[in-house]
Amino acid sequence: MNVRVGSRIGGKSSRSGEILAQKLHAEGIVNKDVLQAIARTPRHIFVPEILAHKAYDNTALPIGQGQTISQPYIVAKMTELLLADGVPDSILEIGTGSGYQTSILAQLSPKIFSVERIKSLQWQAKRRLQAMDLHNVSMKHGDGWKGWKSKAPFQAIIVTAAPTSVPQDLLEQLDEGGRLIIPVGEQTQILKIITRQGEQFKEQQVEVVRFVPLVPGALS
Ligand code: SAH
Repeated sequence: MNVRVGSRIGGKSSRSGEILAQKLHAEGIVNKDVLQAIARTPRHIFVPEILAHKAYDNTALPIGQGQTISQPYIVAKMTELLLADGVPDSILEIGTGSGYQTSILAQLSPKIFSVERIKSLQWQAKRRLQAMDLHNVSMKHGDGWKGWKSKAPFQAIIVTAAPTSVPQDLLEQLDEGGRLIIPVGEQTQILKIITRQGEQFKEQQVEVVRFVPLVPGALS
């Protein structure tokens, strides 16, 4: 695959980003827009400096506060699933973390809303998105179990930490025909696609995954 992007955001694709995108393509990611966003995103600015040399490996890495930046494959896979029915006007993301997944979404959809419960991570993520000249992301310090009611409904919701069960508020904030991509479980977590059809929710299981827990309640 040849990823060449003269990008208005985030600058040109880097050699490291392109190689990572090629690896993900070889692992089954087919959406060209997602691969291009991966190719042009400087993942090294989303990890602690001491781990920058591993930034373009296809692995999760610690980002402090006991949290991790997701593995690029899973970021690409979840994004591809989110865009499967076309580009949503607005996306709700739960678990901003490093902001890497957020930055990919922000290159693909006009409006992103992202909720994070750890304030210091949220601030760092905000600075990184500014550095990439991405200005279509609204952030909230809050409990992702509750979603972001005043901005609902959403055509797409992506959750990048695992709840033990699907949060009712997120189902309620899903637009008609909208899709929720979410890992659910404790030790064993299943990545699910939940689609709203009226008051019915259709569920598909994608694969076994491992995320940090979606912590209920109190903020830090
Ligand atoms: N997509 C992120 C993943 C970060 S890990 C990335 O690639 O960097 C999951 C994130 O979810 C952590 O930052 C964690 O603090 C956050 N999180 C956990 N429970 C939460 C909750 N109840 N509400 C909002 N964010 C939560």
